[in-house]
Amino acid sequence: MADPVDWVYTELDTASHKGYEVWHRVYDQKVVKWLSDNPRVTQEQFLSYMRDLYKIQELDKRFPQAWKQTTDGYRGVGMNKFYVIEPADGKMFGTKWAYAEPLEPSNIGKSQKCPVCGGAVSLRRWLPPHRIKLSSAKPSKWGDFVWGAGFPLLVSSKFKEIYDQERLTGIEEFSFPVEIVRIGTLKSGQFPLPPPTYHLIHVLWGGANQDDIASDLTHEHPEVITCAFCRVGVTWRKQERVIIEESSWNGSDIFKPRNAPVHFMVSERFKRLVENNHMSNIWLIPAEQFAYDERRLALW
Ligand SMILES: [Zn+2]
Repeated sequence: MADPVDWVYTELDTASHKGYEVWHRVYDQKVVKWLSDNPRVTQEQFLSYMRDLYKIQELDKRFPQAWKQTTDGYRGVGMNKFYVIEPADGKMFGTKWAYAEPLEPSNIGKSQKCPVCGGAVSLRRWLPPHRIKLSSAKPSKWGDFVWGAGFPLLVSSKFKEIYDQERLTGIEEFSFPVEIVRIGTLKSGQFPLPPPTYHLIHVLWGGANQDDIASDLTHEHPEVITCAFCRVGVTWRKQERVIIEESSWNGSDIFKPRNAPVHFMVSERFKRLVENNHMSNIWLIPAEQFAYDERRLALW
């Protein structure tokens, strides 16, 4: 694998020949930081990140709102539409769709840390080998998205192909196919049909910042929130909606915003591809309708 820093300079050099010198000077630091946060990035992920940086930062500056209206149709001036994703019907452990359980051995790595206070902002990472049990042996229950506790999300190879082909961004890593060791009460070798190939995905925390005021966020114990950057703390929180601070979004199609009480958020483009390809076991909730109350979690 080439040294990521080489890619930066190769890419910046190419970029400057195309006349993006200003962009080059302003954003090289940002790119280096992104690479240090994403040490295992592939060349394709990196190039995709660079394209998005250019698309968002430079086009917005030169032609305000232009790309938003031309790449995806009109979305309203200054307003990107985002969606919170959840399992279908909000049921992670339902009977309609199979869910997954991680099996031994459990190799657990580090959590992501807030760059300001150093506190943990994600669960600790589940490292290979990724061995799982699926809850149902009925092929009709094997969705494109498989949810569960103790891991971020599993996606089908069909999703991965579309993600790669459409050059969606935001997934830091697709794992090698997870090993499905059991399905319901059946062991490997007894499965009625081979299950789909699933990959574990990792999405880095950050990528956008929640606008707490616009989201109407209140805390029962605001005093426990001591870091203004991550705002992590055990407090009863309640909010009416999830509004992203527009300028904070890094352009990723799937992301985990700072201080939003969600697993993941996705772009309009992500939503459209999921819908057009009839991918199953995902619920796309317009972020402005995603109300959250820690005392009434059953709401979602
Ligand atoms: Zn912090």
